[in-house]
Amino acid sequence: MSAHPNLAGGHVTIDLGALVSNWQQLAKNAGAAECGAVVKANAYGCGIEPVVEALSRAGCRTYFVTVPEEGIRVKNTAPDSRCFVLNGLFANAAPYYLEHDLTPILGSVPEVETWVATAQSHGSPLPCALHVDSGMNRLGLTLRELERITKNRHLMDYLDPQLLMTHLACADDLGHPKTDVQREVFLQASELLPGVPRSAANSAASLQMDGHEYELARPGIALYGGEALNDVPNPMVPVVTLTGRIVQIREANAGDSIGYGGAETLTRITRIAYLSVGYADGYHRATSNMGVPMRAVSQPARAAYKGTIIKGIGRVSMDLCAFDVTDIPEDEISAGDWIELFGSTIPVDDVARAAGTIGYELLTSIGQRYSRTYLKAEA
Ligand SMILES: *Cc1c(COP(=O)(O)O)cnc(C)c1O
Repeated sequence: MSAHPNLAGGHVTIDLGALVSNWQQLAKNAGAAECGAVVKANAYGCGIEPVVEALSRAGCRTYFVTVPEEGIRVKNTAPDSRCFVLNGLFANAAPYYLEHDLTPILGSVPEVETWVATAQSHGSPLPCALHVDSGMNRLGLTLRELERITKNRHLMDYLDPQLLMTHLACADDLGHPKTDVQREVFLQASELLPGVPRSAANSAASLQMDGHEYELARPGIALYGGEALNDVPNPMVPVVTLTGRIVQIREANAGDSIGYGGAETLTRITRIAYLSVGYADGYHRATSNMGVPMRAVSQPARAAYKGTIIKGIGRVSMDLCAFDVTDIPEDEISAGDWIELFGSTIPVDDVARAAGTIGYELLTSIGQRYSRTYLKAEA
C-alpha cells in the first residue's frame, strides 16, 4: 500500500495530530451531542486503520462506513466502537454484519424485512439504524414507509433501532431553504420513534451549529481538513500533504508547445519541472484545465516549491505533470526536489476548484503509488 520513499514518484503525509484536533473542534461544536466520524472511502483516502486508531484514542466511539468491508476494518482496529454501514444491508450479507457487529442503516422496506427475518432466526431483536429520506431522494425510507414500519408490531418486535438518521442535501449552502424543509420532515419522523437517538449533521451542518447536531453528529470531510461550507473561510486544519518528485527540469523556447496535444504554447523561455505524478495517481487531468477542448478554459492548478507558488503547465498525463519554475533561481531547484501539490500552502480545495470538483474527490482519488507517512498525534 505504501511505496518506499526513495522509489516513489510522490509522497503523502497524513497529520494525525491535525485530524484529532479537527475532531476535537467538531466534538466541541456538537455540544451535548456525541461526535462520531465518517471513515468511508478508506477514511477519505487517509487510511481507515490509522485514522480510526487515532480518533479512538481521542475518544471517538462511533464510526460510519459505506460498505461492510470497510466496517470490518473499523471493528478490527477499534473492537469496542460502534460501526454503522451507510449503504445499508446488502443482500445475503446479514451474517457478516452479525459476525462483525456492524449496524446496518436500513434505508428501504426490503432491507428492513431482511433484517427482521435475520432477527427472527436469531431469536431476538437486532440493533439497526433507520434512515429516513427527508428530501434528498437518495437513500432512506419515506416518512410514510417509516410510519407503516413503526406501527407494525411484527416488525418492531424484532428491530432495536439505535439511531434514526437522515442526510441533508444542501447543508453546504448556508441558509438554503431545503435544509429547513428537511428539518421539518426529520422532526416528524423522530416523533414516530420517541427516545431513539437522531443524527442528521454532516460536516457542513456540524460547522453551522444550528441545531442539526441532535444526539449524534457525523462529520467526514472536515475531519480531513477539507472545505465543507461554501463561501466561508475553512476553519479546519489541513491534514493531507501531497508532494511530487521532480524527475527533470528542462527548458523550452517561446512559441514551443509542450506535452500532449501541444495544448499549451509557451510565451517566454520557460523552465519546466516534470513531476512523477499524473492522473493515474489521482492528480486529475482536469487540474490542467486543458483536456479535450484544446484551449485552457480557466486557470490550471497551482503548486508550491518552498513557499513559492508555481503554475501548472500543459496537460496532466497519466504519470507526469508539469509546472513552470522559470521564476525560481536555477541553482535553487533541481531534479529530486519535491513540489507540494496540495497541503498547507496550496489548499486541496483550490486544486479541486481548478479541476472543477471538490476536495472530497481529490482526497478519495489519492492513488496507490505514493509513499506514505503518518505524523503521530500526541498521546
Ligand atoms: C459522506 C456522508 C457524511 C459525511 O459527509 P461530509 O460532508 O464529508 O461531512 C454524512 N452522512 C452521510 C449519509 C454521508 O453519506
